[in-house]
Amino acid sequence: MSRIFTGIQPSGELHIGNYLGAVKNWVRLQHEFDTIVSIVDYHAITLPYDPAQLRQRRHDLALTLLASGIDPNVATLCVQSHVPEHTELAWILNTITPLGELERQTQFKEKARHQESVAAGLLNYPVLQAADILLYRADKVPVGEDQIQHLELSRVVARRWNASFGRPTGRRLDDGSAEREAFFPEPQPLLTHTPRVMGLDGKAKMSKSMGNTIGLLESPESIWAKLRPAVTDPKRIKRTDPGTPEICNIYHLHRAFSTPATVEHVAVQCRTAGWGCIDCKKVLAESMETELVPIRRRAAELAAQPAQIDAALAAGAERCRQLARETMGVVRELMGF
Ligand code: SF4
Repeated sequence: MSRIFTGIQPSGELHIGNYLGAVKNWVRLQHEFDTIVSIVDYHAITLPYDPAQLRQRRHDLALTLLASGIDPNVATLCVQSHVPEHTELAWILNTITPLGELERQTQFKEKARHQESVAAGLLNYPVLQAADILLYRADKVPVGEDQIQHLELSRVVARRWNASFGRPTGRRLDDGSAEREAFFPEPQPLLTHTPRVMGLDGKAKMSKSMGNTIGLLESPESIWAKLRPAVTDPKRIKRTDPGTPEICNIYHLHRAFSTPATVEHVAVQCRTAGWGCIDCKKVLAESMETELVPIRRRAAELAAQPAQIDAALAAGAERCRQLARETMGVVRELMGF
């Protein structure tokens, strides 16, 4: 069975954008692949942070992932810092990664622009990301379009390491150099269709930093308080103005949460001004409840029994440490340690 690796930072409450754009996909993929989901807490410290908050966020994220359907009997859920080999391999890969390649990374340029003093960890972030994937010799990584550049770096690093340190086959290449076996697979992107969820302001992607999110575990009252004033088609000024559903974020949320028949009905009612935006949002709130109620219920159960979360993470750490030890055993031997 092919292996996939995916990481998520414990950077605060999961919102429905994270859920629809990533987590829901992993819940499905866990039945098709040997799936490792890592809570990448070492990645969360490249910007200033509070240690107590990090501890709490790691716990909350594990709880939310399990409540969302990541099944520890099917997938492996682990915490990055529970497997020290992540940082060991990252150091090794740092030694074969040119500075220029890291400086060209778009995410680094964007994040560094807002910092007075840029930590080296922010620059080396994609190397740790490569180490995360290569440590488990994952074949595929579920990614969105905006993460392809980071994955490409992981592929280049894998290729470079294989060419320098892979076990010699005894044959020669055309250029006379020794042919080497590839130890690290070059991880392939697993591009799956996931909705790009816009924030409630309708302007930018849903993100905590923009303050335009709906938390996955928020109460129905709180969700409604956010949905009610959310931006819709600006041409629907009066109740009788027809709208264009495709340009409305509420319609796209319907496509993520409502049944196909309801989505069809929404489009017709919008175009014909058959109903107002508040009617439309009420139906969306009901559809969201259908999906979110079981997640909230599981989250409450896990909150009452935190030992279940600890047990899932302990089992995940044990499996990941075993895989990491095997990889690093070969890496150390081939690199002369
Ligand atoms: S009716 Fe619904 S889809 Fe149409 S503009 Fe209003 S909220 Fe958006």
